[in-house]
Amino acid sequence: MGLRTSEREFHRVVAIDGPAASGKSSVARELAGRLGFIYVNSGAVYRAITWYLLEKGIYAEDSNRIAEALESAAITGCIQDNESRILIDNADPVAHLRDDRVNENVSRVSKLPAVRKIVGQNLHQRARNHDLVVEGRDIGSVVFPETPYKFYVDASPEVRLRRRAAQGERDEIALRDHADFSRAVSPLIIAKDAHVIDTSQLTIEAVVNEIVVRLKQKGLQV
Ligand code: C5P
Repeated sequence: MGLRTSEREFHRVVAIDGPAASGKSSVARELAGRLGFIYVNSGAVYRAITWYLLEKGIYAEDSNRIAEALESAAITGCIQDNESRILIDNADPVAHLRDDRVNENVSRVSKLPAVRKIVGQNLHQRARNHDLVVEGRDIGSVVFPETPYKFYVDASPEVRLRRRAAQGERDEIALRDHADFSRAVSPLIIAKDAHVIDTSQLTIEAVVNEIVVRLKQKGLQV
């Protein structure tokens, strides 16, 4: 076991936080492969919940219906190729996670305390069973504040816009970032003990190498 407190007992967790299109996913996936840890994309969980609610015709403004719908939804996970996948009521939303309507609504859904609580519990459950690399916005600051392995990856706005455009997606990252930075609950912040990396001029491999060096310095057996 990596982390122990009176209430929680978790395996080792590497937290990778940062804004949209900062390079988190590529870095976190590659790092997880290098360490032999499970890769968890927490944004995908918020996206899956957003898709599920939209399918049910429930909108972010309707927080009462959202809380009700999520109470009865079975949100489970499975592991495929060392990556954690999410299932809701046994449906696999993976093909829809980057739909325009999900991009447009996810920050409105993710700011709701009821939603954050469910996702936090889901991530804690996974950390009870596996060593994880988890990417997101509040992983080092709120979900796993006890982990000594915290990173914040960023890139210039121009580079981030270019990366999204190259993926062929319509994604208003400036709007999402504003919503994620300014929300009342678990806003995107740099955890005070996080190591910050600007990925604008770096390859994925270079970022992963930097993280591995840092993890070794912190005593993680790599
Ligand atoms: O990482 P990704 O851009 O796919 O995340 C989608 C959205 O999910 C973010 O814009 C944010 O609103 C929300 N999110 C969050 N907390 C996390 C991960 C994602 O609020 N830990």
